[in-house]
Amino acid sequence: MGETARVFYGLWPTPAEAAQLIPHATVLKAATRGRPSHPASLHLTLVFLGEVPVDVLPQLRNLEVAGDRPGFDLALDRRGVWRHNGIGWLMPSTPPPALLELQSTLEAALRAAGFESERRPFRPHVTLTRHGRDDMPDGAIDPVVWRVREWVLVRSNGTAVDGSRYETLARFPLRQP
Ligand code: ATP
Ligand code: MG
Repeated sequence: MGETARVFYGLWPTPAEAAQLIPHATVLKAATRGRPSHPASLHLTLVFLGEVPVDVLPQLRNLEVAGDRPGFDLALDRRGVWRHNGIGWLMPSTPPPALLELQSTLEAALRAAGFESERRPFRPHVTLTRHGRDDMPDGAIDPVVWRVREWVLVRSNGTAVDGSRYETLARFPLRQP
């Protein structure tokens, strides 16, 4: 295989929205001894494609997803830890239908275009800490609200710790709600 890129589609918060996540990363770090993500790296993954040949990037950038999709608000109102992988997260207790519909339509469009993606059920979450060693009970928090007005195609470049490890390749606007 020639050169490949590690790519995924996701939601990226504004810097102000990302800043509201930081106190939660601090709590999760203290509770689990996990490592916080860089604020500029925080995101919610919609569809993870993994390694694809770089030749298909133009097709992924220009992906057509059917439907007139309005933007929506996403309230992240639960905080917790997954024991099996040491990830500290925020998630919506009730994912908005518009989020689930966007994700499933995107996945279907990718499958129709010949791209295999993750088969596991979609569990929308924002990873705030990794490699935690201690558990912590899940709980409700004052919601952190993202005003979702686009989704993005992102290339994951591995190792940079300064937040530059993710590169936005394309933006897909949602209609003003
Ligand atoms: P790192 O793996 O370097 O610690 P990362 O997990 O953020 O950091 P990637 O592995 O490139 O970076 O993953 C990019 C995004 O896709 C992350 O949100 C990650 O949780 C998600 N992801 C990675 N692998 C999968 C997978 N097999 N299924 C679903 N989502 C995945
Ligand atoms: Mg990973």
